[in-house]
Amino acid sequence: MVAGWFTDYTDYTDDGDDGDGVDFRLLGTRCAACASVFFPREDSFCRNPACGGGELVEVPLSKRGRVWSYTDGRYRPPAPYVSDPDAEWEPYTIVAVELEAERMVVLGQAVPGVRVTDLAVGMEVEVVPGVLNENAETVWTTWHWRPMGAPS
Ligand SMILES: [Zn+2]
Repeated sequence: MVAGWFTDYTDYTDDGDDGDGVDFRLLGTRCAACASVFFPREDSFCRNPACGGGELVEVPLSKRGRVWSYTDGRYRPPAPYVSDPDAEWEPYTIVAVELEAERMVVLGQAVPGVRVTDLAVGMEVEVVPGVLNENAETVWTTWHWRPMGAPS
């Protein structure tokens, strides 16, 4: 995971918006000349072919969006990654979420436990921090999409 894709949410206080004490946001960059927003962040040059190029400024993306598409990532990793074929493999759900203000679609996993049968196109979701991977020393954070009203 590349640094700078989302806020270090431990530094943020509750904005009264979500009630869970964190303000977790994806971070993109916006061209100062044409206002195009990029995620993943683009820091070298504006990718709008009609733009002469401007300064790229970091901006937090919308916290909420609407489900545009989704798919079921239901597979078992191939050997040798799973040593115990009887171990339960937790399937995951990939969601493409349309951010209206930025006019872009951002992919991400749904929060654990959300299945494709829980989702519908147009459903409102919000971005929340999630665990990408962890070991005894380190937890790598990523983002998840959580349907509004779902238990956290
Ligand atoms: Zn531009």
